[in-house]
Amino acid sequence: MIPMLDLRKEFLDIEDEVVAAVIDVLKGTRYVLGPEVEAFERRLAEYHGLSYGAGVGSGTGALFLSLASLPISPGDEIITTPFTFFATVESILYVGAKPVFVDIDTKTLNIDVDLIEAKITKKTKAIMPVHLFGLPCDMKRIMALAKKYNLYVIEDCAQSFGSSIDGKLTGTFGNAGCFSFYPSKNLGCYGDGGAVVMDSQQMYENILALRNHGSRGNYIHSVVGFNSRLDEIQAAILLIKLTKVERNNAMRRENAALYSSLLSSSVMCPYIPEGYVSNYHQYTIRSPQRDKIKETLHAAGISSVVYYPLPIHLQKPLEQFGFRKGDFPVAETASQQVLSLPVYPGLTKEAIGMISEVIIKCL
Ligand SMILES: *Cc1c(COP(=O)(O)O)cnc(C)c1O
Repeated sequence: MIPMLDLRKEFLDIEDEVVAAVIDVLKGTRYVLGPEVEAFERRLAEYHGLSYGAGVGSGTGALFLSLASLPISPGDEIITTPFTFFATVESILYVGAKPVFVDIDTKTLNIDVDLIEAKITKKTKAIMPVHLFGLPCDMKRIMALAKKYNLYVIEDCAQSFGSSIDGKLTGTFGNAGCFSFYPSKNLGCYGDGGAVVMDSQQMYENILALRNHGSRGNYIHSVVGFNSRLDEIQAAILLIKLTKVERNNAMRRENAALYSSLLSSSVMCPYIPEGYVSNYHQYTIRSPQRDKIKETLHAAGISSVVYYPLPIHLQKPLEQFGFRKGDFPVAETASQQVLSLPVYPGLTKEAIGMISEVIIKCL
């Protein structure tokens, strides 16, 4: 069986380092928000060339607290993509704002920047681009629109750790970059975790309070906050894994290049614009025969996953907004044609050859 991910192998490669770090935390008895979290936050901010990093409880926490840290009120509108993981839109709903969807670009699967301006109204407060599957959105044009209309930009970088445009990392274009360290992400911990990186001191201080019950830990509460904290064990693990992530991303890119060389005449392979670097969080092909490919792979013992089978505007919790089938046709077609293949670091060239052969033969 070829899995989507091999986290066991990744762990065994760093076992000694991780076990030692975890034991140190256990003996130190600071378990939630402490020196490891602070060290990781500093390292993360430095990595991105920004002033601040704030560790939080999850990627969803990062998105939600970023929005909560800004003057966004119920009824305000936030522009995003309907083709993403549900959490992007959950964070918008948590702050009482209205998600305004813009269809995706058929080549990149990211928000179609040509369609954004027509959706901007007096109520629009922010744009939330999602760098889906690791491919950066067109941030140059998104930032130009944000400047023209005075909008915040909160980047959902849950899938794009280490991805860049002309050498500039995702998460460094907008007001905040939001990361998830869920185990399956390119930089993953061994539990839940997330972080926000940013340059604004005001936003940073707001998030530090919001993540910890609206208080900086002195039992003086400035606002009603939440519990969304990063723990010391996860931060210690992340400090170790941060030193490996670039190598792992490079291995994913090698795997992706091999897939594309083998598959490009049979299916639609990921499109990477000039100057863009993807971390290949997913290697996602597209074919009208997607279901047949998936079944054939499954029969051959090869895992594959449909990310995502139903665009967000058609999900039940959004019924209240009255979206219909056909509203975002590019996203709807993509959801019927996409299939993500195993691309993890450590996947062998032989396995990629075998997977590609199974796909080519079934078409
Ligand atoms: C994983 C993910 C999230 C949420 O992260 P959690 O850590 O699971 O809360 C948000 N957005 C996208 C695009 C994701 O892939």
